[in-house]
Amino acid sequence: MILIAIIGLMSIIFLQTNIVNHSRFDNNFCFLNDSDNSVSFAEGMNFIYEVQLSKVRTLEKWTIPIRIKYEGDPTKEDIDVLNQIIKDFNKINGFPGMKIVNKDENVLLIYAPKEALPEIQQKYNLTNLTIDKGVCQRFSENGEITQAIIVIESDIDQNTKNSVVLHEIFHMIGFYGHSYDNASIINHIGEPIPKLSAVDTLSFRMLYHPEISIGMEYHEINAYYQEKELAEFMND
Ligand SMILES: [Zn+2]
Repeated sequence: MILIAIIGLMSIIFLQTNIVNHSRFDNNFCFLNDSDNSVSFAEGMNFIYEVQLSKVRTLEKWTIPIRIKYEGDPTKEDIDVLNQIIKDFNKINGFPGMKIVNKDENVLLIYAPKEALPEIQQKYNLTNLTIDKGVCQRFSENGEITQAIIVIESDIDQNTKNSVVLHEIFHMIGFYGHSYDNASIINHIGEPIPKLSAVDTLSFRMLYHPEISIGMEYHEINAYYQEKELAEFMND
């Protein structure tokens, strides 16, 4: 009886470990979402307008490689998540690329417990921002994003934290505001989402496409995509 109980318990433990190990980082996992064929350029344009162009009027993005230095108390999974985001985002055509560096960073990513946040806000002059699990402050010059600071509350639940990091990195690359689309990684209610939505992913591709430049206005970007076929664009 006891033996059966022990075997039963062991298999539960084994099953649990398996679930934890394979839930996110199996070989097929990707933070991008290209699986939904029903998305359209019109949805992408609405999203880009909602979260960026309605705030800055002309298009902004990174053109230089993003060099992320992290500090604080990230877990091993935090680093795995960061590496996976970098790997997946670097697949986007026209994106200047991200990598992790030890110095000469243009993005500082700080993992810190809640109690340390007020001091960090003071130090980096983020005092006008409220940190709710995470925050991203960007700096841009003539439409070119050149620097950012991201702060992540390190002592929250790991799955939530993974989503918060993805959310803040998505803000960092140029999607400034929040969306009323609840499937979006930057949804307005702050609901944790495991990966980008199909519209997030298409909008990312549209923003960074090499033919789309800094300073372009909504109508110019829209005119470009009205001439394009989605299927052909995805294979670019
Ligand atoms: Zn946000």
